[in-house]
Amino acid sequence: MYQNREMTSSKLNVKSHKGENELNHYSLNQFKTILVTGGCGFIGSTLIRRLLIETDAQIINIDKMGYASDLTSIQSKLKEIGEKRMNRHKLIELDLKDKDKVADVFSSFNPDIVFHLAAESHVDRSIESPEIFISSNIVGTFNLLEAARNQFASMKGLRSECFRFLHISTDEVFGSLGSDGYFSETSSYDPRSPYSASKAASDHLARAWFHTYDLPIIMTNCSNNYGPWQFPEKLIPVVIRNAISGSSIPIYGDGQNIRDWLYVEDHIDGMLIAACRGQLGKSYCIGGNNERSNLEIAKEICEILDRLIPNKHHHQLIKLVNDRPGHDRRY
Ligand code: NAD
Repeated sequence: MYQNREMTSSKLNVKSHKGENELNHYSLNQFKTILVTGGCGFIGSTLIRRLLIETDAQIINIDKMGYASDLTSIQSKLKEIGEKRMNRHKLIELDLKDKDKVADVFSSFNPDIVFHLAAESHVDRSIESPEIFISSNIVGTFNLLEAARNQFASMKGLRSECFRFLHISTDEVFGSLGSDGYFSETSSYDPRSPYSASKAASDHLARAWFHTYDLPIIMTNCSNNYGPWQFPEKLIPVVIRNAISGSSIPIYGDGQNIRDWLYVEDHIDGMLIAACRGQLGKSYCIGGNNERSNLEIAKEICEILDRLIPNKHHHQLIKLVNDRPGHDRRY
């Protein structure tokens, strides 16, 4: 996983040229103003920390500062990043559903590239309250695409040629797999939850804005991320926290639902490679090649904690609970 860093963005600062293997090769450093949406969430904040360290760009971060946002995930790196670099990060607290204000951000800052990560992201919440998933993930993406389209139309020369809109999505849009095989960039869409349906809708919008308006879109669909600063409602932080506090560790159904796990920094590597070398209008699947059942994950974490905290048998806290509706078996 994270050991192989040969492909990081800093190594992608190759000479800017076009055409090789039909791919555009750009250096991350040519993007002077980078707009990130959802930059106070788990993956967005990891991206911003990396961009602050690896580029000299100004980073504009649109985030509505919802329940999953945490600015300290960026600020905690102040020592490592340094105050001067940290000052290049500007947070704009804004909900993407506010179309006019989103357009204002584009006219004020004229970004060279957009990384769109803002989304309501928790499947369980989408089953309980789907509406906010429609406004954030679909209407929000629409507003962002429209603002980007207006700005792109006014861009000229090299700036226009280099402009990119990275749309970050999930492999959950493809639904559930059988016991073997993998999703690929050509897999059919078959979303099963309000969350994955809203992400699928946003993917379709992004693709349509490429075909209809020539907006330079590149999409990525990744598997389940894990790593530091993930909000403790997702499987791995839930297992760790509950095990340490001695609470029961709920696992859906028979625990045999399989996910591919991707370390968040590896995801950022893939995203930055897609930004610098991806072909316009294409999507790229990013996986960890690291499949585990949910029960296996919980047991492995418990074993690690048993070694760290002797005389405890954390796996005894694992409790199988009623499955959730539409639960994908394997993706
Ligand atoms: P997260 O929930 O940790 O963070 C999302 C951030 O987006 C939050 O800070 C939230 O406030 C912000 N946001 C949500 N709606 C917004 C809106 N309408 N306007 C402005 N800001 C808004 O999510 P994450 O895990 O960091 O996921 C980021 C992206 O990656 C999402 O698009 C998600 O679909 C995608 N993704 C995540 C995973 C994963 O395993 N976490 C896997 C595949 C794809």
